[in-house]
Amino acid sequence: MASKKIIVVFGATGAQGGGVARALLQNPSFVVRAVTRNPDGKGAQELKKLKIDIVKADLDDIGSLHKAVSGAYGCFLVTNYWEYMDANRELQQGKNGVDACKAAGIKHLVFSGIENTEGSGVGPVPHFDGKGKIEAYIQKSGISYTSTRVSFYSENFLSFFPPKKIAEDKYAVSIAMGNKPLFVISVNDVGQCVAEIFKDPSKYNGKMLGLAGDKLTVDQVCATFSKHLKPKKFENTKISHEEFAKLTFPGAADLAHMFHFYQLKENLRDVELTKKLNPKALSFDAWVQANKDKLNQVMK
Ligand code: NAP
Repeated sequence: MASKKIIVVFGATGAQGGGVARALLQNPSFVVRAVTRNPDGKGAQELKKLKIDIVKADLDDIGSLHKAVSGAYGCFLVTNYWEYMDANRELQQGKNGVDACKAAGIKHLVFSGIENTEGSGVGPVPHFDGKGKIEAYIQKSGISYTSTRVSFYSENFLSFFPPKKIAEDKYAVSIAMGNKPLFVISVNDVGQCVAEIFKDPSKYNGKMLGLAGDKLTVDQVCATFSKHLKPKKFENTKISHEEFAKLTFPGAADLAHMFHFYQLKENLRDVELTKKLNPKALSFDAWVQANKDKLNQVMK
């Protein structure tokens, strides 16, 4: 029997990597090695219960990465801009991960990338641009790779963008997309897409895959919420990206410019391809239906 292929998963204690680790586990050809900075933490303990190997490493510390990727066939790499909100630091973390993979002779790297928006005419989008620069670094490295460009998580409505109560049973949704559609994905669905890529890396080598489970306008987002969360009613505030940029929370301008970029570039993600990679990828309607309780909870 051929030996199992080790896939190193960065971010396995988090949203994207967690889904990737769990999806890979379903495939008997793979063994998952999960990277964390904190092997004693709750996230790592949950992975251990699934019989996932845990390795301690830090993308800020290149020395720690060699052991993490040694002997592996593949690697899923995700960087977390939002921890430090520093695009240069994210870029360095990405380069460290890529260098370690190259030195270890990894056969295929899947990187959670996004476009570099510089020169596109929108204001700075640091949480995109660092990832775009990492993609360029990977291309130059000569390593076999695929970039999975993940769209706006549906789960953002449970965290960063919960609908805001404006009156009894009346809620406002503030997403600065104008009349343009937004691509969304349930972050759990990314995992199966990545597992599919590792099953046949040569098919996806050098490709930038825009992952999305659905594409809908903010009016349609509101209508979907109103349909499933009755008697609550949802309305689109129609906030412009200029108004959004003036909001005072950290990262508001970055996100406003992201929405502006998405308004200008309408076909960056591919629902059809995503559903080929993961036929169970949820539409937004299905995601809202499955998450009614959680949504009601965050809107209390
Ligand atoms: P998450 O759930 O917050 O988890 C972050 C993960 O990154 C954790 O597993 C953490 O591991 C790991 N990590 C952070 N710093 C690390 C380091 N220095 N070395 C090793 N591991 C490190 O994050 P996520 O949502 O999966 O991914 C975040 C990224 O997704 C962000 O860069 C964001 O821009 C991007 N993204 C988000 C969306 C969205 O709609 N929200 C869409 C597309 C892309 P430990 O703490 O266990 O070490």
